[in-house]
Amino acid sequence: MDKDRMKQITRDLLEVIGENTKREGLRDTPRRVADMYAELTEGYSMNPKEILAREWNEVTGMVVAKDIGFFSLCEHHLLPFHGKVHIGYIPSRAVVGLSKLVRLVDCFSKRLQLQERMTKQLADALNENLHPYGVVVVVQARHLCMEMRGVKSGAEIVTSEIRGQFKKFETRNEFFEMLRKDV
Ligand SMILES: [Zn+2]
Repeated sequence: MDKDRMKQITRDLLEVIGENTKREGLRDTPRRVADMYAELTEGYSMNPKEILAREWNEVTGMVVAKDIGFFSLCEHHLLPFHGKVHIGYIPSRAVVGLSKLVRLVDCFSKRLQLQERMTKQLADALNENLHPYGVVVVVQARHLCMEMRGVKSGAEIVTSEIRGQFKKFETRNEFFEMLRKDV
């Protein structure tokens, strides 16, 4: 990221808002904002193929990772949406550790995003790199662009994507049963 340019843009933004960019509290704001955007968009430089490359062979049943927290930025307003991702897959040969799934969520959430697209990208990345028998991804999120402004609704938005065997009702049901359980 061109941080000098980001600092200048932030100074411009502060001026347009009507602020005095010289005052104490705002003096370091352009630098902080530039660092922050670099961090919040670092997913662009992450590669899902690389993240999922270090897999291991193991015969198991359904693998479920629930409550993976995430923060993203809505591409319409540049405001955060945040919540939890739940992932289930049925390995055909490869399984990956939880830390890989957390990194995969980082890869797609630390960008300008739409919740629906992020859900789809996660399902596709798992499907294409692990070749499982099936994948399900559920994302629950709250959108600050709807809570701070606009409709001012605090509703949680839930999106899901299914691939392969999760299209079968019983398989999908087993996944949701596992999500409900507190183990
Ligand atoms: Zn928005």
